[in-house]
Amino acid sequence: LAFNILLLKSYLVVGQGLAGISIATSLRAQGHTVHVIDHANAHRASSVAAGVINPITGKRFVFSWRYFDFFQTAKTFYQNLELQLGHTFWHDRSIVRLLQDLNESHTWLSRSGFEEYRAVMEPLEGAASWQPMLKKHTAFGKLNLAAQVNIPLLCSVWREQGLNESWFFERQVLSSDLDTLSKEYTAVILCCGHQVSDFGPFSGLPWRHAKGTVAHLRFDTDVLPNKNELLKKQILLAPIPNQEGLYWAGANYEWQATDTAATEQGITFIKNELDNTFQIPYQVQHTLAGIRPVAQDRRPVLGASKEWLNVFIFNGLGAKGALLAPYWAQHLADHILNGTALDVEVDMARFKL
Ligand SMILES: Cc1cc2nc3c(=O)[nH]c(=O)nc-3n(C[C@H](O)[C@H](O)[C@H](O)COP(=O)(O)OP(=O)(O)OC[C@H]3O[C@@H](n4cnc5c(N)ncnc54)[C@H](O)[C@@H]3O)c2cc1C
Repeated sequence: LAFNILLLKSYLVVGQGLAGISIATSLRAQGHTVHVIDHANAHRASSVAAGVINPITGKRFVFSWRYFDFFQTAKTFYQNLELQLGHTFWHDRSIVRLLQDLNESHTWLSRSGFEEYRAVMEPLEGAASWQPMLKKHTAFGKLNLAAQVNIPLLCSVWREQGLNESWFFERQVLSSDLDTLSKEYTAVILCCGHQVSDFGPFSGLPWRHAKGTVAHLRFDTDVLPNKNELLKKQILLAPIPNQEGLYWAGANYEWQATDTAATEQGITFIKNELDNTFQIPYQVQHTLAGIRPVAQDRRPVLGASKEWLNVFIFNGLGAKGALLAPYWAQHLADHILNGTALDVEVDMARFKL
């Protein structure tokens, strides 16, 4: 490959999803030249994601991993990009969590009683304002300090700027290019999502990528009470920013997938969930799917190849890229630029190869 745009002491980021955007922005913030290459994959996870940032996770309603460390970094990061790019990416949201049964209601009540959870979890309420939408009366808990990042918009305007300013190049990088690139750039950072497995030095890590199918839909009567609220049951229903009346619904997990076509299994999951929850008819406008890049322990994966010490990966953002990418990008940039040690929780050396 003839990369005729090369400079000494510059950095190359391969992949222009959330991981690539975040690490390129962090390196540039320290004054460095960064080139970005992406082979224009319309189904990258970042273009499919709802971009939801949710403080509470799991059946026991506990804080998401190191939530407050990551949340403020993420908010500042996206809002800085808004100033640079002239678009709104960050939307403060609350999440209405429909509780399935008495057991869930009980767990919610006891968790929300803890001092540290009070700012985030509101006590139980009847879903009165949601009732016209719902099939049966249900209790809900409300989560504050949530957000939604318009990741597809960020990817498209960031790419546009890169093309205009000639630091973004549309092409595919092959594993066999790494040797040349490692000599031409100060460092190469691979941010290739689930396609990391195409790169020899990193293909042997314990990846558990997870495909998810999504539907974009409209309700026949749009009576959702509050456009800043997302609805969460098994399924998540989120307004799509800037697209009046259009909602994102999804997503399931399929662990063996290699292609990015929406699946029957995923579409059935979404329809069953919607039909069991809502009494208002809806029309699915289209379906799509993406593959979340996930490592076995579901933590991010950062580190350098053994073969080329200046070839790094930034991967494993899983189902929480919007929250995790800005914090871990800064962490990786500090490691690359200043030699600070990687946090053992994300260092790829935790996997014994
Ligand atoms: C259905 C679904 C719903 C989701 N919902 C949410 C959510 O609500 N909130 C949230 O925080 N996260 C969500 N996620 C997860 C989120 O999308 C990911 O964590 C994040 O987007 C991963 O970003 P990435 O940059 O690592 O990968 P990707 O977004 O997949 O980007 C990888 C990029 O690398 C490029 N690339 C790969 N190989 C090469 C190569 N050889 N040469 C050149 N370019 C290459 C691809 O073209 C692509 O653009 C969801 C994911 C899915 C699939």
